[in-house]
This record gives sequence, C-alpha cells and structure tokens, in this order.
Amino acid sequence: MIAETTDAWHTARWQRELAEAITDPAELLERLRLPATLLPAARAAAAQFPLRAPRGFVARIEPGKPNDPLLRQILPLGIELDDQPGYGPDPVGDIAAMPHPGLLHKYQGRVLLTLTGACAVHCRYCFRRHFPYAEANPGRGHWPEVLDYIRADASIGEVIFSGGDPLLLTDARLHLLLTELEGIRHVRRLRIHTRVPVVLPSRLDARFCSLLGERRLPLVIVVHVNHARELSAEVVAALRPLRRAGITLLNQAVLLRGVNDSAAALTALSEALFDAGVLPYYLHALDRVQGARHFDVDQEVAIALVAALRRTLPGYLVPSLVREIAGAPHKEALTSAAGTDTFTA
Ligand SMILES: *Cc1c(COP(=O)(O)O)cnc(C)c1O
Ligand code: SF4
Repeated sequence: MIAETTDAWHTARWQRELAEAITDPAELLERLRLPATLLPAARAAAAQFPLRAPRGFVARIEPGKPNDPLLRQILPLGIELDDQPGYGPDPVGDIAAMPHPGLLHKYQGRVLLTLTGACAVHCRYCFRRHFPYAEANPGRGHWPEVLDYIRADASIGEVIFSGGDPLLLTDARLHLLLTELEGIRHVRRLRIHTRVPVVLPSRLDARFCSLLGERRLPLVIVVHVNHARELSAEVVAALRPLRRAGITLLNQAVLLRGVNDSAAALTALSEALFDAGVLPYYLHALDRVQGARHFDVDQEVAIALVAALRRTLPGYLVPSLVREIAGAPHKEALTSAAGTDTFTA
C-alpha cells in the first residue's frame, strides 16, 4: 500500500514535466519557428480552451510547418471561434447519462468514471472541451455513492477510468481506486483511457508500472494516438513494461482532417502501434463539438479509408470505425449503406 503522504514530498519527473508544459501560444510559435501572424488568433482561441502541450510532444513537431499533423492537434486557431451550426457543447449526451457526478452509465455492463478534468495535453478536437468537470467529479465527496452504485448493480462487469486524463491522478490515488473496485465481486475487468503514455511517457515510471503490474483483475489500457509520429522511441520504451506486465494495450484514434485522413497515414499508424505492442481498437468519427468543425471528415470518405486499410493490412490492424451517438446504448459502427466497402475484383 502506497501512503498518500509519500506523494507529498516525492515530486516525480513526470510531475515536473507536466508543470513545465507549454501553455503560451507565443512560446509555441517561437519554438517551432512559425509566423507571429498566427498569434492573435491563437491567443483568442486559447482564451476559450487553453493551449497545453508537454515539451516532449512539441519536440516531435517539425519546425516551420504550420500543417504538421501533430501541431494541428494542439495549436489554437481562429476558426475554432466561428459559429458552427450543428456543433454543440455536449455532442455525446454525457450529462444525460450521469446518475452520480462523474459516473457515466450509458452502455450495458460498463460504467465510465470521469476522474479528473485535467489533461496533460489539450487536443483541439476534444469532445469534452466544454465538459463541466467541476460538477462532474466523483473525487469531490461523491466517491462513496459511486462505489455503492457499482456494488448494487451486478451487471456492471467493467469499470473504465476516464477524464480528463486519469493518469494525472497520483499513484496513491490510483492505487486506492483500483483496490476499492477490485473488492467488488462482479467487477471482472478494469480499463483506463488515457493519452498520457503518448504525450508524457515519463508518467510510466518504475513506481507506476509496478503499481499496475500487480493487480487482482485484468487491466486494459486504451491509449490515444492519432499519428504514427506521436510514437517516439521514448513512448515505445515506456509502453514495454506495461506489455510485460500482461496489460492489454489498445489504441483509439480520432479521424481528423489534416492529421490522419489518408490511407497512408492510417496504415503507418497501425503498423507503428503494432511495433509498440498496441493494437488498434477504435477509429472515432469526430464528435461534433463546438470549435472542432475544421477537423471533420466526410462519413463516406471515412468508410472508404477503412475499406482501403482492410485491403492492405491484416484484420487485427484495422480499427473499427465508430461514432458516438447521444443516448444510444453502444457506439455505432459506421459501414456504408451503399455497400462500397464490399469486395470488387
Ligand atoms: C466509449 C464509452 C464506453 C466504452 O465503450 P466500449 O465500446 O466498451 O469501448 C463506455 N462508456 C462511455 C460513456 C463511452 O463513451
Ligand atoms: S487528452 Fe483526451 S480528454 Fe484530454 S483534451 Fe485530449 S482528447 Fe480531450
């Protein structure tokens, strides 16, 4: 058992790197040798949803390239502030599916906990960019009622830690939550959804890996990588101990215009994921959140891209193309009504 107090004096490297993340648009533009003309719009968009990117992630961006696929994911742009009809603050209906603050119960057999509002990186396309984390956090005194809810419903076999990013919780806090859930008889699996391994690989230090490696229940970690270049050598090395510990590693990506909307980019992503010991799980159609319209990819184009992957990759490297529908009992698989995904000789 790791005592909460040990974290008070132990500032790990990842916590320092998190604190030193780039949050000033001027600094980002200067570091990447980008035109200062981008600054006023970046400042305006950052006032609504702040810029945040760890320095290790920024180091993977090619300087001087305003359209770099990694840069596009983090640079605030003026078009985010345009009026975007059909794009709203809660596109996936999270608020309606929250029986207790921070507990989302939308899907059969699974509940999702939004454990923190904080993220190591701010992704401009994020569907939770307007999420009311302050009111929706089980950490704020609601944890006992959340646990009671899970204990009382024997159909809940899997608990998903989400956020924000759950890996920004301290080791001690994570350990406590995992241990409590492992004590519930009908819970069979625990899952963590996180972008931290990719943007802040130092988080996966020896202390953390030993904490996750000794669990009573099988653990699944779903990382979030959108482009092969995000998988730096350091990221791949940081994931290795998790694999060795028997943790199932999956990836979810979001299909993003100008980032990964080509068969070549998606193929490279699947190949790089496999090399890192991660299997592609979901490719999400963009959730229509206000401010993200410039990332949207036409649904028929998305379906054709996945069909192209199926022609060149083994089935286990082809992610499922899905969309989140507000109020629906599961994510919707996107396949072509016209049957363009079928075999033609
Ligand atoms: C995506 C999601 C899940 C998990 O869905 P899977 O299809 O099991 O990956 C659970 N709860 C919510 C609210 C979700 O958005
Ligand atoms: S890490 Fe995830 S929750 Fe956080 S901003 Fe990015 S997409 Fe959103």
